[in-house]
This record gives sequence, structure tokens and C-alpha cells, in this order.
Amino acid sequence: MTPAAEAVERTADRGTRNVATGIDLHGVSKVYGDAHKAVHALDEVTLTADRGSFTALLGPSGCGKSTILRILADLDQPSSGTVTIHGEPPGDIRRSHQLGLALQDPSLLPWRSVRDNIRLPGQVMHMPVPSDRVDGLIEMIGLKGFEKARPGELSGGMRQRVAIARAIVTHPEILLLDEPFGALDEITRQRMNIELQRLWSDTGATALLVTHSVSEAAFLADRVIIMSPRPGRIIGDIPVELPRPRTREMLSTPDFHAICDHLSAVLYSGTDSDGTAAGDTP
Ligand code: ADP
Repeated sequence: MTPAAEAVERTADRGTRNVATGIDLHGVSKVYGDAHKAVHALDEVTLTADRGSFTALLGPSGCGKSTILRILADLDQPSSGTVTIHGEPPGDIRRSHQLGLALQDPSLLPWRSVRDNIRLPGQVMHMPVPSDRVDGLIEMIGLKGFEKARPGELSGGMRQRVAIARAIVTHPEILLLDEPFGALDEITRQRMNIELQRLWSDTGATALLVTHSVSEAAFLADRVIIMSPRPGRIIGDIPVELPRPRTREMLSTPDFHAICDHLSAVLYSGTDSDGTAAGDTP
């Protein structure tokens, strides 16, 4: 197909199939390395997520969750298959600054203050962020009074909150989160998840969260996609029908426990009793 014909098809596609589609991966495989030492990270992964929804990708280490997120963020390319976000290729989404990204390592600039780290994406995009937007976010993440502090003067939880604020400061339409609270203690992590839910519901963004925590996936997501490793495949796609906003009290309800039990049962069906991938040879 010529580039012009491809463009026409893409435009036609946007007008129909992808209107309500947030994330669309079709038959995506990823092989790292070469013929001598190939790592099959993903095998024919197909998944869709509705625009404006919150989806969690749940699975053990090494099942390809971060690979999917990196492909969506245009930091890596699939070996085969197609990927669109809001009907566009990931590269177009990144270049048009519609993407908010928060990773496990908050990667703040150490010489910049909290305020200047949060303002950074607007400066990179040459779209200055109004100071009341920055002030509002600082208040929302509970760091009022720390505006001038450098990352080295903050706790791990505070740094992660700054990274989340930085990810959403420009009102991105897509929010990609790779274990952003993975290094935090359980109590701080739960508090951050409540804040994250609030920030996400304010933005209306299509969100995808990579996690290996069953309760975090159940707490935050509308849908949980469960993966098994080597090569990464989808083994479950489970809706979470809990009302929003999700609250701390909800964590101890029978409904929440039932969802977590269901997610765990599917997760463990993809691994052997010692936690290795089902079918792995020693
Ligand atoms: P997860 O996020 O679920 O822990 P990853 O997506 O990071 O999994 O990795 C999936 C598989 O691909 C793992 O076996 C990992 O070792 C491998 N992998 C990831 N990145 C690379 C790379 N750059 N080169 C080679 N192998 C890689």
C-alpha cells in the first residue's frame, strides 16, 4: 500500500473503529536480541482499552508488562503487530505531547525545585503551564510548603508524587504508569493510589498501569489484563465492577476480596506452584 493510501485508510479508521478506542494492540509480538540469543518477550498480544478507562496490566516479573508500556510510549517498537492510541500510532501521540508517563524511578532533575520539575514538560513543549495549575497540583499532591525543595530533600513518596504531578501537568490524554509506587511502603502506596485515582478522574485520561500487585490492580482499574511469562501472553481480562470513587474502607469488603481472589486465581493459573512460568523447563 502506498503511504497516501495508508493515510486514507488510517483516517477512515479513525472515523469508525477507533472513535471510542483508547488503546489498541493487535497481534503484537516482541523479540529482543538476535537469532543466536533471542528473548521472546511478547507473543501475539491483542488488547483494547476504552477511551477514558483505567486498565491495569498485572503479571509476574518478566511477563512483558513494561515492554507493552514502552511500545505504547514509543520508547520501543514491536517486532510485529499493530498499535494505536486514540486511533494514532504511538509516535504521533508522543510527538503531539498527548502522553503522560510515570515510571518506577521518578527521574526528577536533582538541581530543579519541586515547582520547576513539575513545570518541565510545559517548557519542553514550549507551552508554558499557568502558575495556578502548578500551584493546584502541588496542593493536590500534598506538597504545599515544599515548592522550593530539591528532590534530594524529599522522601521517596514525595518524589513519586512530584513525578505523577509532572506526568499530568499538561492534561495528557494518555497516562502510562509503570509501577510508579513500587518502591514505597504499603501504607504510603495505598495513600498514593487514592491520590492517583483522584488525579486520573479529574483528567479523564485513558490510563494504563503496569503492576504486579493484585490489590493495587483491583483498587484502581476498571479492567485488569493478566499476563503470563515467557513469552508474555494474555491469560485473563477481568472487569472490576466496584463503584467509584474507590475508598480505603472498600479494601476490607467481601466484594473487594472476591475480586482479588479471582485475579489471584487467574494469575497463579499461569505459573507453577514455585512461581515459575507454567511449562518452563528448569
Ligand atoms: P515485566 O515488565 O513484566 O517485568 P519486561 O517487559 O521488562 O517484563 O521484560 C519481558 C522480557 O523481556 C524479560 O524476559 C526481559 O528480560 C526481556 N527484556 C526486556 N527488555 C529487554 C532488552 N532490552 N533486551 C533483552 N531482553 C529484554
